[in-house]
Amino acid sequence: MQAYCFKCRRKTEIRNAEQVTLRNGRPAVRGACSSCGTKVFRIGKG
Ligand SMILES: [Zn+2]
Repeated sequence: MQAYCFKCRRKTEIRNAEQVTLRNGRPAVRGACSSCGTKVFRIGKG
C-alpha cells in the first residue's frame, strides 16, 4: 500500500498502516513513510 510523502516528494510504502474512518464516514489509511518516518495519509481503503 502506498501514499504520497510530502517530505520525500514521492509515493512511498506505508509503514504501520492503520485503517481509520474520517468524520464524514469515509475510509482512510494512516501510517508512516517507510523511507523517512513522516506521517502519511491516504484517502480510501487500502
Ligand atoms: Zn518520506
